[in-house]
Amino acid sequence: MDSRFRSIKGMNDILPSDSFLWINLEKLLREHFFMAGFREIRTPVLEYLELFVRGIGEGTDIVDKEMYSFRDKDGEMITLRPEGTASVVRAVTEHNLLKQEGIHRLFYLGPMFRYERPQKGRLRQFHQFGAEIFGIADGSIDGELIYLGTSLLLKTGVKESDFVVKINSLGCQSCRKNYRESLVGFLNQSKESLCDDCKRRTVTNPLRVLDCKNEVCKSITEKSPKTLDFLCTECSAHFGEVQSSLKCFGVKSEVDHRLVRGLDYYSRTTFEIQIINNLLGSQNTVIAGGRYDSLFRDFTGGDYPAIGFAGGIERLLEVAGKDILAAKDEFRISFISSVGLFEETDLRNIGKLREAGIETEVDLSKRSFKAKFKRADRIKSSFAVIKGDDEKNGGYYTLKDLRLSMNSEEKQFRINADELVNEILKRRKV
Ligand code: ATP
Ligand code: MG
Repeated sequence: MDSRFRSIKGMNDILPSDSFLWINLEKLLREHFFMAGFREIRTPVLEYLELFVRGIGEGTDIVDKEMYSFRDKDGEMITLRPEGTASVVRAVTEHNLLKQEGIHRLFYLGPMFRYERPQKGRLRQFHQFGAEIFGIADGSIDGELIYLGTSLLLKTGVKESDFVVKINSLGCQSCRKNYRESLVGFLNQSKESLCDDCKRRTVTNPLRVLDCKNEVCKSITEKSPKTLDFLCTECSAHFGEVQSSLKCFGVKSEVDHRLVRGLDYYSRTTFEIQIINNLLGSQNTVIAGGRYDSLFRDFTGGDYPAIGFAGGIERLLEVAGKDILAAKDEFRISFISSVGLFEETDLRNIGKLREAGIETEVDLSKRSFKAKFKRADRIKSSFAVIKGDDEKNGGYYTLKDLRLSMNSEEKQFRINADELVNEILKRRKV
């Protein structure tokens, strides 16, 4: 096929055979966040480029390599959002939400765009859910947010033995400054062996080296200085609060000193929930987040306590229990008749069935009765409502309960046209 008529590499169609899994997962996610006092925010898919450059920061993979940016007809530089947090913070400050009483817990769901090399677990259009809590600096909130992530996984059917929670603390700006110096000193000792990206990162964003997927870089940074050894008293106490909060919520966690996250705006707590036992291969992080008190500086001039996470929906769908997200047993009617036999009463009945919440399919084509029955079987209809010549003349329908076996006495019976809806509703419960 002409390649212009294929979807763009790394951007997938979600077909009807899968879309119910998405719908059920999205429903579960919304309920999960609502129960914990979150409210949904929906921001545009396009934002000014500047928002992400300032918010995420130069020297990060996203800003340096992964953004879909273009000039629009007004000459403005526009970007397809690569993540959700910068937009949420923009919206929250633009609409002054934090000055208003009430909900400071927000969640979002939606597509994100990154120009990455497509591979398993890495798409160019992917979908994230994310949660943000504003206004609370206390470490116990960090614990609660992580717990919201782990309890979500459990709800979707991921087993406790199939994931780990990794945590770390980056400290505040001043802890980071000392750490950065020490890290750059350490990296310079092995500079020749680092990959080209990391040679560059040592200068532009040395913390990102700790996050490199290259095996040589990984083995070098195993012995790198640890951020936890550079925390000031307050940051150290804060990390203690996070750990004891996690204990209260019954969440087991491991400290991972290389967990720094690439984004400029992180401070103090960082965390990831990773799927283990090779269920996702090497792209095994499903939820990742951290505290980002300093992101607000670009918007309001001062720091403001904030913590959040983002999770990958495609990766979560890979590991979620399909039985939990599968469509529940459905009830469906096939209305089977030839076009010539169709009357106003039939249309009215079809309308009433649908209004009563019963999915009703009608095939008005000239296909044979046999073909229409085949279709009813294929879509697993519960009942066929049949209208042939006899039915038309007698003012009734023949109903066939397709759930029952061929020799069941109850399988086929007549019903007056004006009793159809009540009869179906009654039999639905059987
Ligand atoms: P990595 O280091 O793997 O590139 P990241 O730091 O870019 O990860 P985040 O920006 O923290 O990832 O995104 C949060 C989550 O969103 C990830 O843990 C993952 O589940 C999902 N995600 C990120 N990028 C992609 C992608 N290209 N395709 C599919 N899912 C993704
Ligand atoms: Mg990435």
